[in-house]
Amino acid sequence: MNKFDYLFEAINNRAYVRKSFLLSIFSIVTPSPANNKRLKDVPYALIRDDETKQVYFYKDNEKVFVDHPDYDKALFHKNDKLTVDMSVHEFIKDKFETTVGLLLVNLVVFFESVGHAASYINGPITSGTVRGLIDSIMVDNPKEGEEIPSNKASVDQCLNITKNLDYLEGMNDVFVKASSLDVLTVHPDVIKLRDKLLNELEKENKLDDPAAVAKVIDEVVALDASIQYNGPSKDFFIDKKFIDNARKKMFVVFDMVPDFNTGKYQLLRNSLNEGWDKDNYPAYINTAISGSYDRGNATGEGGAEVKVMILLTDRIEAIDTDCQTPRTETVVLNDFSFGSWVGGYYKTEDGLKVLSKVDKGLMGKPLQFRVPQFCEQGDYNLCKVCCGEKLGAIKNRVSAETVLIFTQIMLQRMKGMHSSQLKMVKLDLNRIVK
Ligand SMILES: [Zn+2]
Repeated sequence: MNKFDYLFEAINNRAYVRKSFLLSIFSIVTPSPANNKRLKDVPYALIRDDETKQVYFYKDNEKVFVDHPDYDKALFHKNDKLTVDMSVHEFIKDKFETTVGLLLVNLVVFFESVGHAASYINGPITSGTVRGLIDSIMVDNPKEGEEIPSNKASVDQCLNITKNLDYLEGMNDVFVKASSLDVLTVHPDVIKLRDKLLNELEKENKLDDPAAVAKVIDEVVALDASIQYNGPSKDFFIDKKFIDNARKKMFVVFDMVPDFNTGKYQLLRNSLNEGWDKDNYPAYINTAISGSYDRGNATGEGGAEVKVMILLTDRIEAIDTDCQTPRTETVVLNDFSFGSWVGGYYKTEDGLKVLSKVDKGLMGKPLQFRVPQFCEQGDYNLCKVCCGEKLGAIKNRVSAETVLIFTQIMLQRMKGMHSSQLKMVKLDLNRIVK
């Protein structure tokens, strides 16, 4: 049997509701007698025969063999390409090329939760994609006798989207290759580039110039990143931080470290992989001391502040009314702040208006915004107009938003404790200086 025909038959019979089935097709399950006995009871689970190097599944107690010449590999990899059309599954409305992984996520996460209210997403599925989908289809849970419109989904159905994502997350060990030769080593070209660029700086006497060194390090890290993103563990590195901080110190260069006596920076050229540079012991030890006990402890205090803030603000509600306060805050919108004010109410001669995404023409002019700090709603609650459309959209969200401020304090303290990095960023002077 062709392996894709096997896959299509299995998904139409919802074989993917058993994780053992998924493991059997996306990984190599050792064909021990115990494993084979277990898999036999799982519909469509793929079983391996080490002697004949064949794979098969049971259908009505009969073995059905699936073509798989690469016996030493799993039957499918999530990035395997295939062409699907309407005959494959009722969720597919067109003929197109997709991948096995996307097919699985679409069926398990979207089709199983909300059915035809969603449609096939044939590309990267991010948290934003999922949020956008939920925004466009979610309606209240139906009361008795009510029906959900066919293109919508209830709150409970939408919650299943997250549950089913969690279900697939359990497969991460199979899908995300955390370890490979690439990840555990560094390509010689990276080291070659580092030495070449740093030697050039040395000739120009610029090794103590943090800006010049940061630029060079960025270039070397970019080369390392491009090698990692093309290697077998690219899915492991979806978070850039692993590469430009952890991998950098481990394999590329320890970085420039500040000397608190002089306020100047000292370059530590070796990576941790190459060992400490014996000529610069004091700099290493000073850096180690920056991560002192007190600083570590302070991250805990940051966390405690977050909790205190939840206690203090948890009862505040954003109520769907207008407190009619005459007080406003004068705000001059610019490129940088515009997005944050979208959904806010501002005063005009014709009464209150909501700032929308298309109102870019209002940038640069002073506007009178209604803001939470001037709200006169009773019982220390807030009214929806002072909160604006975003914060006011959900009654009990104020607390979660307030806590973000203290979360930032906590993160700053954590950065003080853990190794931080030197980096070049571009800033627009007009935004800093008024
Ligand atoms: Zn108000």
